[in-house]
Amino acid sequence: KVRVRYAPSPTGLLHIGNARTAIFNYLFSKHLGGDFIIRIEDTDVKRNVVGGEKSQLDNLKWLGLDWEESPDKGGNYGPYRQLERLDIYQKYANELLERGLAYKEYKEDSDAYAIRFKVPKDKTYAFDDLVRGTLKFESKEVEDWIMIKDNGIPTYNFAVVIDDHLMEITHVLRGEEHITNTPKQMMVYEAFGWEIPRFGHMTIIVNEQKKKLSKRDHSIVQFIGQYREMGYLPEALFNFITLLGWSPSINEEILTKEQIIELFESKRLSKAPAMFDVVKLQYINHQYMKKLSPEAFASFVKPFLVEAKIDIKSDEWLENLCSLLHDRTSYGKEIVSLYNEFFSDEFEIEAEAMAFLKENETTLQTIKSFKSILEQSSFLPDAIKEEIKAVGKDVGVKGKLLFMPVRIASTGVMHGPELPMALSLLGKEKVLNRITQTIN
Ligand code: GLU
Repeated sequence: KVRVRYAPSPTGLLHIGNARTAIFNYLFSKHLGGDFIIRIEDTDVKRNVVGGEKSQLDNLKWLGLDWEESPDKGGNYGPYRQLERLDIYQKYANELLERGLAYKEYKEDSDAYAIRFKVPKDKTYAFDDLVRGTLKFESKEVEDWIMIKDNGIPTYNFAVVIDDHLMEITHVLRGEEHITNTPKQMMVYEAFGWEIPRFGHMTIIVNEQKKKLSKRDHSIVQFIGQYREMGYLPEALFNFITLLGWSPSINEEILTKEQIIELFESKRLSKAPAMFDVVKLQYINHQYMKKLSPEAFASFVKPFLVEAKIDIKSDEWLENLCSLLHDRTSYGKEIVSLYNEFFSDEFEIEAEAMAFLKENETTLQTIKSFKSILEQSSFLPDAIKEEIKAVGKDVGVKGKLLFMPVRIASTGVMHGPELPMALSLLGKEKVLNRITQTIN
């Protein structure tokens, strides 16, 4: 049975690159009907952060992943945190010591010792990487390396092999930065006579300048939790991440989780660096936002409006606002800036719109007629629609010559959301003020 794992070190929040590793392992196992397990690699004690493990797991769940075994779920191959497995590593290290395949290195003036792996002489380590094909390493390029530190804690390269073996992992998909660790790990498998899993090393993720994405680069949002806070949809983010170094065999990129599981063949993993394109992410999220029902959209964006202290006058008001802005909102929090743009107290007519008003002689009369009719209006969208028609009859204009002056005088721009609804939401006072400013 196929068994794969995601093995995060709980040293920080869930980064886009970690999420990609987790997602690819998940997809790989689900495509083949296998198990997906989570193991916490917490042996770099100084770098562990409080809450790191929880943040990893919570965000993965939010992205729609689930797994068969993990520290919080348990399973038959536990414990699933490396610090809870120290005696296991010690036992295997002792075995290599006894067999002369490893040796002790005492710390100065102390009884404490580290255990080093004795690298075999003049051997070639080759493996068939799922992404890159055959890779070869010479043992002479590798120095004897520490398996267990003098504090009794194993290093990554040793612990990972013991765990992958005991947890019956069949495929290891991980980041490219681990390629040079692979021969060291193969040496350990070989020393114990254990079967070696298939390895696959995924391409790096780069920014638009083709530089490796760095967690320290604050100009790009890179943590899953941040996208969650901005109101990205988990399904959209999941979809976007799957395209970082993988491509479907069909000519369509917006795909559900089920479709991706179906299509996820490891031969379509790419060797070329994957570009993290924020515009594409926003585009994909926008597509998912559009697919939300009006009710789902409203309840999704409401918390962002509330947080921005925007006064939600009634359910109907919210419904109307949403019907106006739904199509334009590419992520939840954006509703706030769209709202602010739309309801801004500062009113200015853009140059192009001003030119339109000046070029057409009926515009002033149209705006004046609209103003006088509006004064009596109930300001409901349907009423406004009729009133605009009445202005047309009154002045003898239709089409662009009717709608444009009305739109410009009340919104300042030539393009925008559906007019009667927009005016109704703006409210009588604001619209009349703006019109007055326009004619003066
Ligand atoms: N803890 C390692 C990391 O976070 C896991 C590497 C592996 O999958 O072997 O990079």
